[in-house]
Amino acid sequence: MEPIDKASLIEEKLPSLYRQFQICHLCPRRCEVNRPAGETGYCGAGQEMVIYTAFLHHGEEPGISGEKGSGTIFFSGCNLKCVYCQNYRFSHTLEGTKVSSDDLARIMLRLQEKGAENINLVTPTHFLPWIMDGLARAFRQGLALPIVYNTSGYETVETVRLLGDAVDVYLADIRYVTPSLGERYSQAPDYPEVNQRALRKMYDQKGAAWEGPLVKQGLVIRHLVLPGCVEETIKVLTWISENTPQALVSLMFQYQPYFKARLYPEIDRRVSEDEYERVMDFLDELDLEGWAQDLSPEEDLAGVHFRPSLEGLI
Ligand code: SF4
Repeated sequence: MEPIDKASLIEEKLPSLYRQFQICHLCPRRCEVNRPAGETGYCGAGQEMVIYTAFLHHGEEPGISGEKGSGTIFFSGCNLKCVYCQNYRFSHTLEGTKVSSDDLARIMLRLQEKGAENINLVTPTHFLPWIMDGLARAFRQGLALPIVYNTSGYETVETVRLLGDAVDVYLADIRYVTPSLGERYSQAPDYPEVNQRALRKMYDQKGAAWEGPLVKQGLVIRHLVLPGCVEETIKVLTWISENTPQALVSLMFQYQPYFKARLYPEIDRRVSEDEYERVMDFLDELDLEGWAQDLSPEEDLAGVHFRPSLEGLI
């Protein structure tokens, strides 16, 4: 689809999106707070969009970062406050720079000028009306890159439906398939049910269009292997192979006990070599395609440990 057509389709949806956050149900938390009036819900986000950082990211999956890097924009705040979150400094707070939709469009266009392979929106849903507005503006001003929606996977089907015309690639997590784990580590016992509905919708919408080396359309499902949770990972991989077999899989072993994980003894360590081998042996039995990290990946792989300023981008 031509960028200008994308812009028109997005603009048609803006009034309904801005209405959604007057009684906010942008995400499955359904807080029903009046965000334009300054009320805040679970994610803490209010009337303004906040970005923590934006840069060319070379540590995403090879099919996302490509050679020149993924034009990654990290939004502050999150609707899923995981106890082991590696980005807790800005995802559990709203630390960052307040920006308008116009600013966001400028950032995207600058990242394109710098050679980005795509625009990668990280944890965006709680700012969706402004983001869609920014995307429409950027498309009208010449943005022609694939749009990657990088999400915890805790999304409503309605939101995924709204995203269909704007997004090319879903880079979505599947964190747990067991409700008690969703409750213990992410305060979301409904995570498995909600996540699986959203993933199926993303899969139906974007299908499998992987031709390599870059992912230009489709669904990439990320799973972070947690220590002591090999059986959970086996269930996750089984679910993927039975429900979204053509999706690309990104298996991550970079877990470290960040943030509050020290308070949960069972996850207060890294994944062991034995656990890594068991997961990789099981993966070998399945007919899935994608990427798997080494047990000790480079520090900056698929994460953010530094904060380039927005200077020169806005
Ligand atoms: S986006 Fe934030 S305020 Fe809106 S429903 Fe989700 S958590 Fe609640």
